[in-house]
Amino acid sequence: MDAIQEKLKIIAPATGERLGEIPATSVNEVDSFYHRSKTAFKQWSNLTMSERGKYLLRLKDIIVEQMEDIAKTIAADTGKVVTEALVADIMPTLDSIDHIIKHGEKILQRQRVKTPLLLIGKKSFIEYMPRGVVLVISPWNYPFQLAMVPMLSALASGYAVILKPSEVTPLVGKCMEGLFAEAGFPMGVVQVAHGGKEVGEAFTNGKPDYIFFTGSVRTGKIIQQVASKHLIPTTLELGGKDPMIVFADAHLERAAKGAVWAAFTNSGQVCMSAERLYVEKSIYPKFLSLLKKEILNLKQGNNEDDDVGSMTFPAQIEILRDQLEDALSKGARLETGLMPEKWNNGMFLPLIVVTNVNHDMKLIQEESFGPILPVIPFESEDEVISLANDTVYGLNASVWSNDPVKARRVSSRLVSGAVVINDAIISIAHHGLPFGGAKQSGIGRYHGDAGLRIFCHEKAIVEDIGRKKSEIHWYPYQGKYPLFLQLFKSYFQANRNWIIFSKIYLRILKKN
Ligand code: NAD
Repeated sequence: MDAIQEKLKIIAPATGERLGEIPATSVNEVDSFYHRSKTAFKQWSNLTMSERGKYLLRLKDIIVEQMEDIAKTIAADTGKVVTEALVADIMPTLDSIDHIIKHGEKILQRQRVKTPLLLIGKKSFIEYMPRGVVLVISPWNYPFQLAMVPMLSALASGYAVILKPSEVTPLVGKCMEGLFAEAGFPMGVVQVAHGGKEVGEAFTNGKPDYIFFTGSVRTGKIIQQVASKHLIPTTLELGGKDPMIVFADAHLERAAKGAVWAAFTNSGQVCMSAERLYVEKSIYPKFLSLLKKEILNLKQGNNEDDDVGSMTFPAQIEILRDQLEDALSKGARLETGLMPEKWNNGMFLPLIVVTNVNHDMKLIQEESFGPILPVIPFESEDEVISLANDTVYGLNASVWSNDPVKARRVSSRLVSGAVVINDAIISIAHHGLPFGGAKQSGIGRYHGDAGLRIFCHEKAIVEDIGRKKSEIHWYPYQGKYPLFLQLFKSYFQANRNWIIFSKIYLRILKKN
């Protein structure tokens, strides 16, 4: 990738092969992008939900038809194995279309709300109205899903979308642009701005009506600052340091398999994963050996049958090296994998389990985003809850136990956007559940009903049939004050007195 030459170089991380380059969008094009989007919004937002849904279904058909090619494109661009491209990028995208088609109309239609008695004779509703143009800025780790799902939700809600995909995975950005073009979305409804940080910045400053950002806490804060200047609403989906808690009564083989998958899927470059593993002391040695056994079974590579692919972004390796060196210098012990000085297999990192770690280490406090799993023993429920909550993040967590009461009790005390019991990560695959972070893991939610409603103004509507000459709270006020006192006392007292309320109400009415 090289934005100075206004070309994004595409290099397959797993092989180092140069796959080509694509032109970057010039920052001078920002105004024309927004102009096209705003024009397109007028028509697009006037379509009914089911008319917009037809475009989504056409896109779905194309994705299904080209599923294998798309999976291979994602795998080549990220270094992830093709199975993960299919399961974790393409499947959730298709499923989100199904969810939107099935529930979208109901979620966004005018909702009737009960009217309180004090507003006698009126009807109340909530309406959802799209705001205009959304800027979706997406990361490189799940470059398809994490761009597509917010885009599809915004499109269904009536928005025009400008996508700024990650410059680290430009091929996927180009692929998504092609899919929308093929699906025949009207001109300007979906536009893709290719490029890096500068392009992201320029489009953020271009004053979209909404910003949906997925990426690091650092960038999230910058975007929120720019958005606040113009009061632009945002959703920020940021990093995580997800704890996994294994109690002694858990199914240990399952938990060990689950831990290895949650820690090493996508080479650990997952915002919601297992970044810290807490194991109850009584089973700690046994669990450690189960973990090691599971890791031995894994195959790294970029073939169809491999389990763990390569890292995607070279700079990430240095972050991991720094964290591991810090931990090792403070007494951490490597249980599997290699010391940082022996990492010499290109973008493939060894799968590392580290013990003898503590909460003063960067490895425990900062997001790693790579195949490193630190393991910490614990003795009590209270202790592990306080350890699990002891980072600035709160995206996802998992609790493993055969005692559902205990597992639920612990889950409820975790400060986390989501908790999975006896599994990990998969709450993101459920489009009926809200997705988002607590603490510095983000602001706002998507997926579920929230996923469509966040993009809309929530408009309160109160309707009166308009046949009465006046209202009791309108002028004139003469003689009404003591009557209002009696009216509200009769209404709000512990045992509401309807007879007095009705009598006084009629007396006030007569004063009009
Ligand atoms: P990043 O913040 O470096 O980049 C994300 C996107 O922001 C990219 O498209 C980038 O070009 C753009 N960008 C960078 N600087 C910008 C600026 N100043 N203005 C506007 N746009 C700018 O993140 P990344 O390295 O691509 O992704 C990894 C991070 O994303 C990790 O922290 C991970 O936890 C997080 N993440 C979060 C979720 C979630 O849903 N919560 C999902 C996946 C990844």
